[in-house]
Amino acid sequence: METAYAPGRVELLGNHTDYNEGYVLSAAIDRGVTLRGEATGSSRVLLHSSTLGDTCEADVATLSHHKEHEWANYPLGVLDIFKKAGLAVSGFSAEISSDLPLGAGLSSSAAFEVATGLLLSKLFSIKLDPLTLAKLCRRAENEFVGVNCGLLDQVSSVFGKAGHAIFLDCRNETVENTPFPDGVALLITQCGVPHRLAGGEYNERRLQCFDAATRLGAKALRDVTSSQLEAAKEQLPLLSYKRAAHVVGENERVLSGIEHLRQGDVRGFGSLMSESHKSSRLNFENSTPELDLLVEIALAEPGVLGARLTGGGFGGATVTLLERDKAPAIAAAIEARYHKQTGFNAQTYLCEIADGAR
Ligand code: ADP
Ligand code: MG
Repeated sequence: METAYAPGRVELLGNHTDYNEGYVLSAAIDRGVTLRGEATGSSRVLLHSSTLGDTCEADVATLSHHKEHEWANYPLGVLDIFKKAGLAVSGFSAEISSDLPLGAGLSSSAAFEVATGLLLSKLFSIKLDPLTLAKLCRRAENEFVGVNCGLLDQVSSVFGKAGHAIFLDCRNETVENTPFPDGVALLITQCGVPHRLAGGEYNERRLQCFDAATRLGAKALRDVTSSQLEAAKEQLPLLSYKRAAHVVGENERVLSGIEHLRQGDVRGFGSLMSESHKSSRLNFENSTPELDLLVEIALAEPGVLGARLTGGGFGGATVTLLERDKAPAIAAAIEARYHKQTGFNAQTYLCEIADGAR
């Protein structure tokens, strides 16, 4: 019997930068997906998710997208992509458990894929370097599950390091860890309101970014600096300017955030997170009244260093950087004030920056 664990992640800075070939700063958190399993000695695959109370059977020889058990497509996808990559895999059984909320933007899907990839590596003695593992898992989500995600989620789950942020350059696909100052924790707060039009809005933003890059004569917004953007402002439609300003600003905030972290300036880093949210609200328009309120409530609490929406936006969650010793009280205060003002129940997850998959 072998065990594999992979954590979820949170985006700290670098919102909507991935498809613009830019920079992201993320962290693995201390919650994740665990698989316990063994080889079946045949082509039979047997998966049981104790999280969902559901079982799925498959055969390595005839893998195809599962309609009745959507959740099983994540591990089956990894198995399929391993096979396509020429890796010697065969049947296995696994029990899946998790303390990561599903569909909450903490990337339980990538954690599930990475834990599967790692379990397969252990069961069938496959040696993979970390970046290859992350890329195979991403392919599983893109090609088998059918979700067009970037590399950040899988990279974060693989490269997480306790007390370190993860810097991903989405164009060059390079990854680095940056030490994170002590004494702080992360509070992730789900707004408790369903995503609104998430798919449509997301694709619309992508197209607006590509269009803005074309108008600026750049291959991608990654190649535009804020001074170039300001110089071109008068020639651009306001919408293109605003979308570009967000992405260009986010890329610059990631680079400057790393500098703040290197200098141990956690307050400076927190301010960048709050600026990032302001830019989401005003430029990218991917915030919602509820996310704005969560950020506003958080920033009014003593001990909070910064707060912003995290992930795609249009609903979902915020991430708040706070002093660890005040964190439980702050979480309770945010939940109470938010409920009082909206009637919605926010769900808070107090997280530490943790190690990656193992
Ligand atoms: P997120 O990655 O933000 O959590 P996704 O919609 O990308 O949201 O992925 C969530 C899906 O991943 C779930 O609907 C389920 O299909 C699958 N999944 C994640 N964790 C588990 C688990 N422990 N057991 C079964 N399926 C899981
Ligand atoms: Mg996901």
